Amino acid sequence: MGDLDSKVALVTGASRGIGKAIALDLAANGADMAICARSLQGLQETATAIRELGRKVECYAVDLGDTEAINGTVAHVFEEFGRIDILVNNAGVTRDTLLPRMSESHWDDVINVNLRGSFFFTKAASRVMIKQRSGSIISISSVVGVVGNAGQCNYAASKAGLIGMTKSLAKELCVRGIRVNAVAPGFIETDMTEALSEDAREKALANIPMGRLGTPGDIAHAVTFLAGDASSYMTGQVVSVCGGMVM
Ligand code: NAP
Repeated sequence: MGDLDSKVALVTGASRGIGKAIALDLAANGADMAICARSLQGLQETATAIRELGRKVECYAVDLGDTEAINGTVAHVFEEFGRIDILVNNAGVTRDTLLPRMSESHWDDVINVNLRGSFFFTKAASRVMIKQRSGSIISISSVVGVVGNAGQCNYAASKAGLIGMTKSLAKELCVRGIRVNAVAPGFIETDMTEALSEDAREKALANIPMGRLGTPGDIAHAVTFLAGDASSYMTGQVVSVCGGMVM
């Protein structure tokens, strides 16, 4: 098997895109998997592929806007697996628009899912990790959280917030044997970016020195590295995986 043999990983937003690729890569490296999204149906395809890799998997329907549901999910995962070694805060949404048109719901929806939901997942899972005196928490931020982007002030604030949370918790949880890191993807081919116009896509490509968009697998490999012992001397870091878009 792999580096993550006998580890248990919990991944949010694992029904498609980057989260699905992360769940499959962690499982391919030996981890048993607890996977979450709002739609159970959406998770089934990921779960089938994980079972084909010979790993245990359980699916949990949870909305990141619902704190009680988040706490309940983490409790169920602990009941089912007996431990949580890896948490990946991946689920995220965009509600892009320029400031004058950005409504309360545009702002709240994005902050609630991307930042608030990730905070409560981290808080609940870290209780288990503190008792174990080990764990690796990885949040999927964005290069937009580092450099900003017009029309995405809500999304950029949520992703910059994840970076601040990562660095603070890395300092706080280090003594408990828990590492906390973030991955900042650039422009990755998923449903989230499919909605962009041809013009926006061309402009993004022009800013990527490597001359191609990233794949969900590119992000998954960085997460698997941060999850396992190969990165045991890394905490509080933001790893950009962006084809050189930000350096
Ligand atoms: P995606 O294809 O839209 O997938 C989003 C995932 O999050 C789905 O599994 C979705 O499942 C889940 N989700 C959405 N809202 C949720 C909620 N309220 N509660 C629970 N789960 C929810 O997105 P992606 O492109 O793979 O992005 C994954 C992460 O990478 C996000 O945090 C995103 O901000 C970040 N990122 C992406 C890019 C990119 O270029 N694609 C770049 C930088 C960062 P359900 O709909 O079933 O809930």
